[in-house]
Amino acid sequence: MTFADLGLIAPLLKAIQEQGYTTPTPVQAQAIPFILQGRDMLAGAQTGTGKTAGFTLPLLQLLSKNKPASPKRKVRALILTPTRELAAQVGESVRLYGKHLPFKSTVVFGGVGINPQIKALANGIDILVATPGRLMDLIGQKALDLSGVEFFVLDEADRMLDMGFIRDIRRVIELLPKKRQNLLFSATYSDEIKTLASSLLNNPAEVEVARRNTSSELVKQSVVLVDDTRKSTLLGKIIQERGYKQVLVFTRTKHRANKLSDYLQKIEISAAAIHGNKSQSARTKALADFKNGAVRVLVATDIAARGIDIDALPHVINFELPNIAEDYVHRIGRTGRAGCSGEALSLVCVDEAEYLRGIEKLINKKLEREIIEGYEPDPSIKAKPILQGRGGNQNGGGNRRTNNAKKSTGEAKPSGRTGQKSNPQHREGKKPAHHA
Ligand code: AMP
Repeated sequence: MTFADLGLIAPLLKAIQEQGYTTPTPVQAQAIPFILQGRDMLAGAQTGTGKTAGFTLPLLQLLSKNKPASPKRKVRALILTPTRELAAQVGESVRLYGKHLPFKSTVVFGGVGINPQIKALANGIDILVATPGRLMDLIGQKALDLSGVEFFVLDEADRMLDMGFIRDIRRVIELLPKKRQNLLFSATYSDEIKTLASSLLNNPAEVEVARRNTSSELVKQSVVLVDDTRKSTLLGKIIQERGYKQVLVFTRTKHRANKLSDYLQKIEISAAAIHGNKSQSARTKALADFKNGAVRVLVATDIAARGIDIDALPHVINFELPNIAEDYVHRIGRTGRAGCSGEALSLVCVDEAEYLRGIEKLINKKLEREIIEGYEPDPSIKAKPILQGRGGNQNGGGNRRTNNAKKSTGEAKPSGRTGQKSNPQHREGKKPAHHA
C-alpha cells in the first residue's frame, strides 16, 4: 500500500515524499479513504500512530477540491487540540503537508500574546489549529468568524474532556455551520466520549488502531523498587552510570518536576522541567534544547508531555508512577517508536504499590522488579497515602472527569471537586488522590 494508492493528489504526494514517508501507517491507511469520501469519523488512535497526517492529508485534499463560496478568506477547517504543544505540532504538520497547496494556516493557543493571533485571523486563514481556551477568548473578542467551517477536527478528545473543556467544545460546536464534516480522535472511549461522539458525528466511519506500545516488544519495561526519599540520588546514579544521553523523566507534580530538575543540574546532569506553570517560551526552549541534545534530561508532568513528539527517544523514566494507569501507557509510548527499541524504567516506592497494580492490570503484564545495591527499600517504611495538591497528584483519581471551565492558556484549571479556590498558579489540577 502506498500513499498514491489512497488516492492522494500530487501536491500532497510530493510533500509526503519530502517528509521521507514511504508507507501509510495503519491509521492513515484506514482513515484517509473514509475522510476523502466526506464521511464523519470516530478514530481510536494515539499520538505516535501517524494520526495527524491521517486527518491532515485528506482534509487538505478536500479543501483544495471544494472551492470556497466567497473570495474572502474564512476559516474552513478548525482543528482543536488539548495542549499548546500538540497544537504547535499539528500546526507544523499542516504547514509541511500543505506546502505545495495555496492554503494559509495558523495556530492559536494561550500563554502568548493574543494580538498577533487576532491580526493573523483578520488577514484571512483557511486552516486554524487551536486550544479551546484561547479559541473561546478569540471568539469573545469577535476576532473569529466560524461561519465558513467545513471541517471540524477534535484531536485527543479524551484528553480535552479530562482537562475540563467540554463546555467550550459544545459552545464552539454551536457556532459552526450545520453542514460540515466532523472527525473525532480519541485514545480512549469513556461514556463521555461516546456521548460527545453521538451528538457530534453523523453516521461516522469507525477506525481503531492498536494502542501504541501497550504490549510492544520494542519497549523494555522494568521497575526499580526504592524508597521515595532516595529516588533523586538513584536517578542521578542510573543516568550517569548507564550513560543515558536523552531521557524523558515523568513526575506527578510540577513542584517535584522543578525540584528534580534543580537537583540534576546540581549534580551536573543538564536538565530542564516542562509543565503548565512554565511560560510558553520556556516550554518551547526546553523542548528544543532536549531535542537537539543541549539538555540531557527533560522532566515533565503528564499534561505538559502530552503531544510531545520526539522520534526514537531511547529512555523514559517514571520518577513517580502516574495515578491514572492509562497515563503510564502514554508515557512509555514516548519511547520505542518508529521501529527503534526503547527502555521504560519506573522508580517505585512503597506508597505507589496500588498504582503499580493498576498499571499491570491495564497492560496485562507483570513488570520485572529490580533492586539496586545500596538502594534497597527499607522494609520498616509503611505505605502512606499519596497527598494531593502541591506535593501530590496532578491528575486526580479514577474518575477522570473534571468540572473545569476553560482556561485561556489551553490547559485546565484545577477541579472544583476539592473545593479549592481556583489558582492560576496550579493549573494542572488538584483532585483527590485515588488510593484504592
Ligand atoms: P502523530 O501520531 O501524528 O503524532 O505522528 C507521529 C510521528 O510519525 C510524526 O513524527 C510523523 O512525522 C511520523 N509519521 C507520520 N506518518 C508517517 C508515515 N507514514 N511514515 C513514517 N513516519 C510517519
